[in-house]
Amino acid sequence: EQSLPPIITFSEGLDNMLGGGVPLCKITEFCGAPGVGKTQMCMQIAVDVQIPSQFGGLQGEAVYIDTEGSFIVERLVDIAKATVDHCNEMARLEGFKEGEITVESVLSGVHFYRCHDYVELLATVHLLPEFIKKHPKIKVVLVDSVAFHFRHDFDDLSLRTRLLTTMAQSFIKLATEFKIAIVLTNQMTTKFSPGEDSRLVPALGESWGHASTIRVILYWEGQKRWAWLYKSPSKKESRVPYQITMGGVRD
Ligand code: ATP
Ligand code: MG
Repeated sequence: EQSLPPIITFSEGLDNMLGGGVPLCKITEFCGAPGVGKTQMCMQIAVDVQIPSQFGGLQGEAVYIDTEGSFIVERLVDIAKATVDHCNEMARLEGFKEGEITVESVLSGVHFYRCHDYVELLATVHLLPEFIKKHPKIKVVLVDSVAFHFRHDFDDLSLRTRLLTTMAQSFIKLATEFKIAIVLTNQMTTKFSPGEDSRLVPALGESWGHASTIRVILYWEGQKRWAWLYKSPSKKESRVPYQITMGGVRD
């Protein structure tokens, strides 16, 4: 069986760091402070998963689960336009037909869910296998963010741990069974340890940390954005700068 390529992000540095892009069959988590670019990254991936196969893409579709209400369709259109232009440019250079991917086709290839609380999120995740069976072009499920409802609605920490564990298992099953990428975003939280300076770590605690196969921390250094590969089964820890432009994520 031929293995499918990963999903590119249009930041070559980030893609190289990940071994070509965001891999299928695995869970990749982007963590970072507000405004650093997690939502932009999700929108970029939702668009790029749709790049036609003649350009080396997956020609797939995306499920986009928005828990925060931060998905902006106009922003998706901007990113889609840039990707469509890029593909048409390649088509001209290689003598392929243009128009294989359009802004309209990209929009209809994003299956959007808005989840207002953790019950809606868990229900949506629970129904995904049936949905993906009906839409076999789906190659990525994005959840932006997984942390939101579990940080604000929760007093019962043992219930939270149980629900997160169940959800993590659902994601692992989806990733392997359907051979799709799972992309999650997470917030950062301050960790206080005795005898140590407090530091920022991904939210939702240590047991959740095992849920994702790959963890990338996005952070600022001065004016520059950096992506830090923090956890990976096969690549060594490293960092690359990236940018967010009008057209989306770039080097
Ligand atoms: P939060 O934790 O609050 O959800 P986030 O990590 O999801 O934050 P994003 O919403 O992805 O952050 O990033 C927002 C940032 O993306 C903006 O502050 C801006 O710097 C950048 N950005 C958004 N649109 C554009 C654009 N059209 N051109 C350039 N940069 C943009
Ligand atoms: Mg966001």
